[in-house]
Amino acid sequence: MPLKILQTVFGYDQFRLQQEAIIQRLLAGQNAAVIMPTGGGKSICYQIPALMRKGTGIVVSPLISLMQDQVDALKQLDICAEYLNSNLDGGQQYRVIEALLSGSLDLLYVAPERLMMPDFLNLLTRVDLSLLAIDEAHCISQWGHDFRPEYRKLAEVRNQFPNVPCIAATATADDPTRREIVQQLHIEDEGLFVAGFDRPNIRYAVVQKNNAKQQLLRFIETQHSKDAGIVYCLSRRKVEDVAQWLVEQGHNALPYHAGLAAEVRLENQDRFLKEEGLIVVATIAFGMGIDKPNVRFVAHMDIPKSPESYYQETGRAGRDGLPANAWMTYGLADVVLMQKILSDSEADEEHKRVEWHKFNALVGYCESAQCRRQVLLSYFGDTMDEPCGNCDTCLTPVETFDGTVAAQKFLSCVHRTGQRFGAGHVVDVLLGKMTNKIESFGHQALSTFGIGEEHSVGQWRSIARQLVTANYLSVDIEGYGGLRLTPDCGAVLKGEKQVLFRKDPKPERRSRKKEKTSPAKNDLLDDQTQPLFDALRDLRLELAREQGIPPYIIFHDSTLIALAQNRPKTVDDLGYIPGVGAVKLERYGEAFLNVICTFENRN
Ligand code: ADP
Ligand code: ZN
Repeated sequence: MPLKILQTVFGYDQFRLQQEAIIQRLLAGQNAAVIMPTGGGKSICYQIPALMRKGTGIVVSPLISLMQDQVDALKQLDICAEYLNSNLDGGQQYRVIEALLSGSLDLLYVAPERLMMPDFLNLLTRVDLSLLAIDEAHCISQWGHDFRPEYRKLAEVRNQFPNVPCIAATATADDPTRREIVQQLHIEDEGLFVAGFDRPNIRYAVVQKNNAKQQLLRFIETQHSKDAGIVYCLSRRKVEDVAQWLVEQGHNALPYHAGLAAEVRLENQDRFLKEEGLIVVATIAFGMGIDKPNVRFVAHMDIPKSPESYYQETGRAGRDGLPANAWMTYGLADVVLMQKILSDSEADEEHKRVEWHKFNALVGYCESAQCRRQVLLSYFGDTMDEPCGNCDTCLTPVETFDGTVAAQKFLSCVHRTGQRFGAGHVVDVLLGKMTNKIESFGHQALSTFGIGEEHSVGQWRSIARQLVTANYLSVDIEGYGGLRLTPDCGAVLKGEKQVLFRKDPKPERRSRKKEKTSPAKNDLLDDQTQPLFDALRDLRLELAREQGIPPYIIFHDSTLIALAQNRPKTVDDLGYIPGVGAVKLERYGEAFLNVICTFENRN
């Protein structure tokens, strides 16, 4: 039965990975926590049970724009869905609440603040609830990278409806975060579903910063000249500067940051969703809730604050599964700046420690000589045996140097100091500094005291990060942030295993061979199919404009590509194309068939 709905309503052949098992649990009245990468298909996991169970499914999401997008998409399928948030005026809210009370809604999206209001909770006790879905559930956890106190209270709400199945969903949650979600929401152990984190279609690359704007321009012009993308910068000023510069260079770019008037922000976001090939230059204020599936690249002009942020931001590229790029330009000055931001933050010591650890892990990723994907996935507790073949270090291996001796010195110093200190202290010992801490622990008497004078503080810190990244050391973030040896480091200490560190490349020279171009989306189409794809895309844009919705809500690029390649001639054939369900077939089938038919006749 769930499969039937997937096929007829959503137009997809079969479930992905764990979708079916998750749906079955909810149908049986049990709970689930779903950790799945962006684009993995989390929403179907609660949408289908909400359609099948009696009553209304409540979806809590902190992201207003995302609510609207999802509701628009559901309405395209003739599903009865609404949202309640501050964007609606009094009259509209009243009508939504009426619909809720009448029991006609399959799904209702609400912001957490709304859900928590006593009046609203009261309303909920008067209607049948099919399920409670908590999106962006990492916000519940203090170990998450985006902790929101108001999310914490969701656990209480959940307790008020103990018999309503609950599903928590997020794309980014490390192990402590997962445990906290499950525990706070009383989700059974068997209800935890962790899908692989990998986004194989995203190609990761980090380049050494050297005239960042030119680097960005070259990246866009060689690989993404007509594509939609997001460029992240740390400050508002830089956002303005980069956006203006891209426009001067002839690109269609808009700024987005919290300092812009609300209307301007809304308009720029709307244009990004509804136009094709627009670049938005933004601070992290942009993108929460950007569900646009055909974002072909995400570029970082500055290093983000944690692997979670980086993964979430880069994860906005290629949600449709087609090839996409995640590109960052990275320099030491950024590290210093971010360290200052973190140390000035008002968080308490415990949180600062967590933030430091996360930031260092990301710096380690940038400095690593290993496959980027292996490093990222291992941070999230996912292992990957072979290098991926689709990141910069795999495609163009970096120069390395033998750092085995340095690694041995560092690891044995961690061992001698008792595996309880952070990198700063260990480095001080290696450099033979007489700090108060060293004196009070008597560490000047250790055999590793002062044995590392051949490297600078900066080099040792980089070595420490790379050792963590390579999994020879782990960081005790739930305690005091001390470094510990992992089982893997035995071989290094015994001299059985060589450790390679990244040699920073010389600044790129202009004359370098043209960068390897990624298989951009259009490479999927040959010269014969491209014009038909373009024609189908024009029709999609026209239909979307008429309704004031983003084009991808009508059909995804992948559906258009399948149409252009398969060229169905009848309504029946069209129904077999992925992403074409019964309602869309009825609404749009004929128009798309006409375009294909005209095209075939002309050629
Ligand atoms: P998430 O919320 O995990 O980021 P979505 O639920 O938005 O991901 O799904 C991502 C895309 O994948 C959507 O376009 C969705 O329609 C599509 N999708 C989901 N499940 C399937 C499936 N079983 N087969 C094909 N496409 C699917
Ligand atoms: Zn790789």
